[in-house]
Amino acid sequence: MNFIYSWNADISFFHEEKEVLGFLCYNKKITGKEPAEREYIMSICNLCPRACKIERKISVKDKGNVGYCRSAMLPVISRAALHHWEEPCIAGSRGAGTVFFAGCNLSCVYCQNYEISEMRKGIEVSVERLREIYFELIAKGAHNIDLVTPTHYTHAIFQSLRDPLPVPVVYNCGGYESVHTVAFLRNKVQCWLPDLKYADSIAAARYSDAPDYFEKATAAIEQMFRQTGPYDIDSSGILRKGVLIRHLILPGQVENTKKVLEYVADTFAPGEVLFSLMRQYVPCGRAAEYPEINRPITDEEYEECESYMEELGIVDGYVQQKASSDKMFIPAFDGTGVLKREE
Ligand code: SF4
Repeated sequence: MNFIYSWNADISFFHEEKEVLGFLCYNKKITGKEPAEREYIMSICNLCPRACKIERKISVKDKGNVGYCRSAMLPVISRAALHHWEEPCIAGSRGAGTVFFAGCNLSCVYCQNYEISEMRKGIEVSVERLREIYFELIAKGAHNIDLVTPTHYTHAIFQSLRDPLPVPVVYNCGGYESVHTVAFLRNKVQCWLPDLKYADSIAAARYSDAPDYFEKATAAIEQMFRQTGPYDIDSSGILRKGVLIRHLILPGQVENTKKVLEYVADTFAPGEVLFSLMRQYVPCGRAAEYPEINRPITDEEYEECESYMEELGIVDGYVQQKASSDKMFIPAFDGTGVLKREE
């Protein structure tokens, strides 16, 4: 099997050129043909800041290495369905075409998708099936294809998007991303939905095992913005391109939120990026082991954060109603839409 260790992209585009080594290997440029499902392989995984540098096995059925995300290379999907609970410019009137991937490169103790992020509940599919799923969602009316927690499957996603889709591709991620991976997807992804969870490294270490989260996430977000430019919402209210930064307020973490808001206000001018201040926190996953976050946020906490956002002049974006803090908004991760239905 032939491998390539970089590709003919404009290397000057990358900020961490050395990190390209071993990033993604597939042999199309060598054979001139689309690779078959098992013909692509990554030599050393550094898709995300964990930089595990292991050779990942292809399928969950294979013996071999898994990194921090404990994922093989073929995508495991927990749900693929229209989703109405994203921000209005993503969900629109008909719904976002969400594809929920199992596994994660973060391990947030309070994750509301714990059963898929940590337990990796889902069904493994081929790249071809992944692309079919996109078109099934589009046929149902999806405004976009909304890839949820996609980072550890970047190689398969890249191949599934080898030809453009008729709707925008939304990369809905935890924010703990590598600049080179964002850059690699620049012609595939039109809309970026990164979380910016922490500015506080102590909280990032305690709750997501990622003390360097802020440094990595902000570098990635700035790269996303370089690629898309200012956001563009069309006449029907749907995001066509741009960056929408999400921040979930955690109980007792108002100062962390304020530092995140200051970063956004200092870095982006009005009209450049969208911002979503989220109050939907409900204790999930292992939150009960962390008593200080084992409760919803209070009205006072939310109001303090919202007022500070206004004070800083962040005007493009969304706030959430109190009613959004409810487990009823967590979808069923039951394999809906993953397997091809018999005609
Ligand atoms: S994608 Fe997974 S295996 Fe690769 S560097 Fe990140 S955590 Fe490690």
